[in-house]
Amino acid sequence: MFTNFSTPPSSVFDVIVIGSGIGGLVTATQLAAKGAQVLVLESYLIPGGSAGSFESQGYRFDVGASMIFGFGNKGTTNLLTRALSAVNTSLETIPDPVQIHYHLPQGLNLKVERDYDKFLQNLIAYFPHESTGIRRFYNECWRVFNCLNQIDLLSLEEPRYLLRVFLQHPLACLGLAKYLPLNAGDVARRYIQDPQLLKFIDMECYCWSVVPADMTPMINAGMVFSDRHYGGVNYPKGGVGQIAQKLVQGLEKAGGTIKYQAKVTKILTENGRAVGVQLANGTTYYGKRIVSNATRWDTFEKLLPVEKMPRNEKNWQQRYEKSPSFLSLHLGVKQSVLPTGTECHHIILEDWHKMMAPEGTLFVSIPTLLDPNLAPEGYHIIHAFTPHWIDDWQGMSAQEYEVKKEAAAWRIIDRLEQIFPGLDGGLDYLEVGTPRTHRRFLGRVDGSYGPIPRRKLWGLLGMPFNRTSISGLYCVGDSTFPGQGLNAVAFSGFACAHRIAVDLGF
Ligand SMILES: Cc1cc2nc3c(=O)[nH]c(=O)nc-3n(C[C@H](O)[C@H](O)[C@H](O)COP(=O)(O)OP(=O)(O)OC[C@H]3O[C@@H](n4cnc5c(N)ncnc54)[C@H](O)[C@@H]3O)c2cc1C
Repeated sequence: MFTNFSTPPSSVFDVIVIGSGIGGLVTATQLAAKGAQVLVLESYLIPGGSAGSFESQGYRFDVGASMIFGFGNKGTTNLLTRALSAVNTSLETIPDPVQIHYHLPQGLNLKVERDYDKFLQNLIAYFPHESTGIRRFYNECWRVFNCLNQIDLLSLEEPRYLLRVFLQHPLACLGLAKYLPLNAGDVARRYIQDPQLLKFIDMECYCWSVVPADMTPMINAGMVFSDRHYGGVNYPKGGVGQIAQKLVQGLEKAGGTIKYQAKVTKILTENGRAVGVQLANGTTYYGKRIVSNATRWDTFEKLLPVEKMPRNEKNWQQRYEKSPSFLSLHLGVKQSVLPTGTECHHIILEDWHKMMAPEGTLFVSIPTLLDPNLAPEGYHIIHAFTPHWIDDWQGMSAQEYEVKKEAAAWRIIDRLEQIFPGLDGGLDYLEVGTPRTHRRFLGRVDGSYGPIPRRKLWGLLGMPFNRTSISGLYCVGDSTFPGQGLNAVAFSGFACAHRIAVDLGF
C-alpha cells in the first residue's frame, strides 16, 4: 500500500484518530481495548474538545457541556458509563435532581424534575386542558427510548450486527424504524393544540438540538426526554473534563498513544485511499484506518483538498448547515448571589420570537451546586452562554473586539440579574469567550456547535454514519449520526470503532 512513498513509513498504526473530543476518544478506547494500535492526535494541550475544562484563579470551568446524559447504571443507552468501563475505569458522578429550570415568556416558570411524574405534574399545572396530550406526547418519547434501550448501540453500517439485533429484538427494531424519519414536532402536534405548549416543546428541543421541534429528530427527542428520568442527568465529580481525562488514562493503559499540540493539517491519500496524516510541524504518521473527529466541514474543506470534495459530502452540506456558535461567560461569584434552592441548569427567554435569535435563549449552568470543589470556598461558578454568529465578530480591531465583548457580557449579566439579583456586586471573576474563541480553542469551523438541518428533513435519515466516500477514512463526533451531545457522540464513537474493528478483523 505504501510503495509509492519516497520514504517508507517506519511504523504504521492500525488506527489514527484526529482529535480527542469524546467521539474521538470513545473510538480510540474501544479499538485499543480490542488490541488495535491506536494513535490520537490532538491539536490542543488537553483532551475533551467541547467537553474539556480549564482552570483559572482557583476555579475549574467546563468549556461547554455540563448537562451530562449517559452516566446511568442500567439499560444500554448509558454510553459514557460503558465507554469508561471498556477500558477498566469509571467516574464518580453526582445526580442532578432537576434537569432544567425554565424561565420562559408568559410566566412559564417550570422545573424538569428527574422524577417523571413530578415533571408531568409541573407541566400539567400550567396546561391542565392539555393533560392527556402531554401524557401522550411524552409517552411516545418513552416508546422510542424503550426500543433504543434494549439494544446494543453499535454500527448501523454493519449488516451482521443489524441482522443479529433484529433477530433478538424484532419489535424494538421495527419501532425504531418507524420513528427514524419522524421529527418531534410532527408527533407533538398529533396530541397538543395549545400554541404556548407547542412553543414549550420547541424549547425542550431547541435547548440541545438548536432547532425547533419540527426539525428535531424524534429518535433524539425520545432519548433526551426519557433518559433524563431514567439514567438521569449526572455531573462528573471534578468537572466534565474528567471524562476525557479518564478515557485518556484508559487508552494509555490499553496500549494506545495520545499526542497533544499535534495539529493535523493534511490527511494523506494514495490512489484515493486515506493512508496517513501530516501535522503542522511536518511530521507524518501512517495508519491502516484514519478517523477524523474534526467536524465534516473541517475534514473535507481543510484536511483534504476542497476541490475534490466527494459528492456525498456536497449533498450533506446541502441538507445541513452550521449552527451558530456561542458567546460564553465564565463567572466566579460569591455564594450569597444564589438564592437558596437554586438549580444547576437554567434556560432564560423573555420573548418567544427570539428563541433562535442571537442572544435570545440564555443557557446557564452552575455546576458548583453539585460539586462545590470546582470553586474556592464561598464561591460558585456560573457558565452562561447564548447563540452568536462568527460573522458578527470578524473584521474589527483588537480594541473594538474587546469593547464589543465587554458590552455583550454586561447585557448577559443584566439578564442574569433577573434571577440572581445582586450578581453584579458579587462578581469575583469574569472571562468572556466569543465564536472566535470557540473556533480557536475547539478547532471547530466558525466555532459552530454543530450541524443543523437547513430545512425540515426526514428525522435522522439524512445524518451520515461513520464511513466516508474516501476509502480508509471515517468520521466520528457530532457531524455524524446521531448528532450533538456527549452521549450522542459517544454513540458515534461506539459505532465507528465497531465498523473499523470489523473492517480490520479485531
Ligand atoms: C457551550 C456548549 C455547551 C454544551 N452543552 C452541552 C451539554 O450540556 N450536554 C451535552 O451533552 N452536550 C453539550 N454540548 C455539546 C457537546 O459538548 C458536543 O456535542 C460534543 O462534545 C462534541 O464532541 P465531538 O467528539 O464531536 O468533538 P469536539 O468536542 O469538537 O472535539 C474535537 C477535538 O478534535 C480536535 N481537533 C480538531 N481538529 C483537529 C486537527 N486538525 N488536528 C488535531 N486535533 C484536532 C479539537 O481540538 C477537539 O479537541 C455543548 C457544547 C457547547 C459548545
